[in-house]
Amino acid sequence: MRPLSLVPKFLLTTVAIWTIAMTAAGLGLYLALRVAPDDTTSTHWAVLCGLVLALLVTAGLFASLIVLARRQVADIRALSRCAERLASGDYDGAMALARFDELGDLARRLDMLRERLRTTTISRDYLDKVLASMGEALMLVNPEGRITRANPAAGQLLQCDEHELVGRPVAELFAAGPREEFSLADTGPRARESALVASSGQEIPVSYTVAAIEEGDPVAGSFVVTARNIAERKIAEQRIRYLARIDALTKVPNRMQFQHLLQRAIARAGRQGRQFALLYLDIDRFKDINDIYGHSAGDLCLESLTERVGHLLPESTVMGRFAGDEFGVILEGDWIAGDATAGLADTARAILRDIARPLAFHGHQIHMTASAGIATYPQDARNVIDLVRSADSALYHAKRSGGDSFEFFDPEMNALATERLMLKSKLRRAYERNELLLHYQPKVDVVTGRVAGAEALVRWDLSERGLVLPSEFIPLAEESNLILDIGEWVLDRVCRDFQSWQAQKLFPGRIAVNLSLKQLRQPNFSQRVHGICRRHGVPPASLELEITESTLMENAERTLKVLDELYDMGLSLAIDDFGTGYSSLSALQKFPINTLKIDRSFVSDAAEDADDATIVGTIIQMGHGLKLDVVAEGVESAGQLAFLRSAGCDYVQGLLFGEPMDATEFMRLLRSQQQGQPVFGRLLA
Ligand code: C2E
Ligand code: MG
Ligand code: MG
Repeated sequence: MRPLSLVPKFLLTTVAIWTIAMTAAGLGLYLALRVAPDDTTSTHWAVLCGLVLALLVTAGLFASLIVLARRQVADIRALSRCAERLASGDYDGAMALARFDELGDLARRLDMLRERLRTTTISRDYLDKVLASMGEALMLVNPEGRITRANPAAGQLLQCDEHELVGRPVAELFAAGPREEFSLADTGPRARESALVASSGQEIPVSYTVAAIEEGDPVAGSFVVTARNIAERKIAEQRIRYLARIDALTKVPNRMQFQHLLQRAIARAGRQGRQFALLYLDIDRFKDINDIYGHSAGDLCLESLTERVGHLLPESTVMGRFAGDEFGVILEGDWIAGDATAGLADTARAILRDIARPLAFHGHQIHMTASAGIATYPQDARNVIDLVRSADSALYHAKRSGGDSFEFFDPEMNALATERLMLKSKLRRAYERNELLLHYQPKVDVVTGRVAGAEALVRWDLSERGLVLPSEFIPLAEESNLILDIGEWVLDRVCRDFQSWQAQKLFPGRIAVNLSLKQLRQPNFSQRVHGICRRHGVPPASLELEITESTLMENAERTLKVLDELYDMGLSLAIDDFGTGYSSLSALQKFPINTLKIDRSFVSDAAEDADDATIVGTIIQMGHGLKLDVVAEGVESAGQLAFLRSAGCDYVQGLLFGEPMDATEFMRLLRSQQQGQPVFGRLLA
């Protein structure tokens, strides 16, 4: 049923009051007239009574009307209070006015409004909270480009209160340069990088986006600009870029970056018509330093080298680490003009001298030296690859001459490199065609002058060149696995020769065979040696394996295991070229060694040079202290022999006793010794 509206309600009530009042008055009058129609006094009383009755009824009715009106007013006040609460943002408590008139309608609508406002407010508050909790700076911007709202993160990013941002043109927040690139029209989800200026003036790298709000409120904002601080990422990126270009240990450019800088030097020199030089540096026997003193010593050497070279050369000099212990230095400047050879040589000499200064390491002194190759642009090469290759070729030659020296590139070096390659393939062919030879160098007892053994030395008879010595081709063979084949061939040939001498009742003593690191690294090396000995019926005790100090120290633990196996089989072990490495005798103690061979570089001057004499004397004494036989290599003169005798050396080898000889000749030597003829006795007389 339609609720009764307020207006008819009041009209009806009023009419009803009037009707009832009039009826009461009329009724009173009528009764008065009926009771005493002729009695005026009674009539008057009757009328009066009627009127009083009418008045009482009217009063009663008006009182009810007032009560009714007051109820309406109370409800209206309640509604008014409700409206007031809504206005103040209090959306709790429904009106629940059980009326079905306009006030009831109004109450229900107010309730709807309250509910609507409540949900809207919750959403708005929620949005505020979301904005406040965002780590990303967010700004609403109006079409004029002014900020209308900013979240706390925006304030934090720009180091100010977020309210201070309101009203400022958003473009003003950008740093001067990047500002030109910023445009509100440039909307989209793709983040761009730029820099904002904080209120402290600090530039802050940011990644930002601009989004347009469709049908946005021009007052509240039509664009949303978000920005994120990417300073940390930028630092990380810079670090990555740095690490990608700079060698972590020495802090100089790495190979990639150095080549890039070299490319730039070439372009610069080409433009200016200048020349410059590339110095290719390499530490001599760096592996030995690592093996003997450990990798931290190796690292120290690399760091000191860069430091020393860096101090010596102008600050702008570019230096880079190619790999391992190889460095490049770009030598530029006015002084490299015309014939700069003398200047470059002086610089190279100064660099090498400085590098060679002893280096203190945990109570030791490391004597590091380096070699250098020099190539100049544009004379030697016109591009990065050729320039590096030329300097490297020059370095190779410097190394070959014993290290601690430098060489200038010579076009012939490239020819030599090509020749090296050809020689390598010829060597393989020679091995396959069984064209290698084995010579024996007698080992002579210093006291008796008797041949007490020999060292097997491989030779290569190259038809167009004559005998090629191992110092030339062994390094080539070591670059590939050919050394394994050659090494096994030598062992096999020694055993075969030994067996034939044995068959003729000749006693050659122990035959020494030189070993390469690669051979020692071969799986089952000791079994292989054992197999060869057995095949020829040669007792393993007839063989001595010569190993250089550096080979011994290369992965010492693994080497020790193989050497122990060989020793257990009865083979003797000798340290070859002793004194040229970095090892101390005590470091060698853990290896099962029988013999120490003093390098010929000490022997050659021992008779004249007091220092070398002391070194040789000390090695002999220490060797004996460790119960080792001591052999001196490279004895060429009677003076050297006399010195070695007086120093107590056990055995000698060298050209003094003739060139190394083939198996037949060595057999003849043994035979004459067996027949009692003095072989080298006269040298000892
Ligand atoms: P090494 O083991 O120290 O051999 C001694 C070298 O000194 C030999 O050179 C020998 O001919 C040379 N020599 C001996 N006495 C004298 C002398 O009085 N004066 C001078 N100036 N030199 C003398 P070679 O035959 O050229 O061998 C050089 C190196 O090649 C050897 O040094 C050894 O390390 C290696 N080698 C030789 N044969 C073999 C082999 O069969 N296998 C392996 N892996 N290496 C070998
Ligand atoms: Mg040797
Ligand atoms: Mg030697």
